[in-house]
Amino acid sequence: MLNIGCHLSSSKGYAAMGKIAVSIQASTFQFFTRNPRGARAKALDPADIAVFLEYAREHGIEKILAHAPYTLNGASADEHIRQFAADTMADDLKRMEYTPGNCYNFHPGSHTGQGTEAGIAHIASMLNGILRPGQSTTVLLETMAGKGSEIGREFEELREILDRVELSDHMGVCLDTCHVWDGGYDIVNRLDEVLDRFDRIIGLKRLKAVHLNDSMNPLGARKDRHAKIGQGCIGLEAMVRIINHPALRSLPFYLETPNELEGYGQEIRLLRERYV
Ligand code: FE
Ligand code: FE
Ligand code: ZN
Repeated sequence: MLNIGCHLSSSKGYAAMGKIAVSIQASTFQFFTRNPRGARAKALDPADIAVFLEYAREHGIEKILAHAPYTLNGASADEHIRQFAADTMADDLKRMEYTPGNCYNFHPGSHTGQGTEAGIAHIASMLNGILRPGQSTTVLLETMAGKGSEIGREFEELREILDRVELSDHMGVCLDTCHVWDGGYDIVNRLDEVLDRFDRIIGLKRLKAVHLNDSMNPLGARKDRHAKIGQGCIGLEAMVRIINHPALRSLPFYLETPNELEGYGQEIRLLRERYV
């Protein structure tokens, strides 16, 4: 069965997210660990988590995906900004252990003028400071569109980060279809080639999740503006090939399309119909 869900608001807690996911026939979901702008996190409620874990078991929700605030920048030239990213992510990883065995995705960061090499070194040293040998959470680097000074557009950049992380068994990658398309990887006409390249440079073993988004912009635009499935430059047929591809079809897919709940439900239904 297609393992698919969408991004949900975490403001009402885990049990509420589980119920909303099931109501739109999702088998997983993504959520922000805290306000996406990076403010303080709400205290975890152990009762809410216990209800969620039981509900998830009953309804076949296997794994969920947490997303770090997208304003964090562990690659910044500013030491205080880097420290804030490290502290926030370390706190998130502690909290993730209350729902063990899930994934935590983050944007590698922007080098803000220092150059890619320096940015990569900062990201790796942050990860080396916060990963713990006993953790059950896998930390995912998200593939990025490459707008501004973003790191993570090229697969080689993600490889370099992974190479420098000591506990890299706790690391994986999340492929965002809008981002790789905007980053110049032609997943419409050359999906096999792109995935071969991913395998050679990063290794498909590292690929733990897919963000399934259409793009408002053409190949290589480096813009990062998500579109509804089938309403952007990637198109429905390419999305159908992606969810059915042998290298991808058993991964969890997460919609981050510009939708309310009803629209997400429609996209999930459509994609389930086209999964063979
Ligand atoms: Fe993201
Ligand atoms: Fe994404
Ligand atoms: Zn995006």
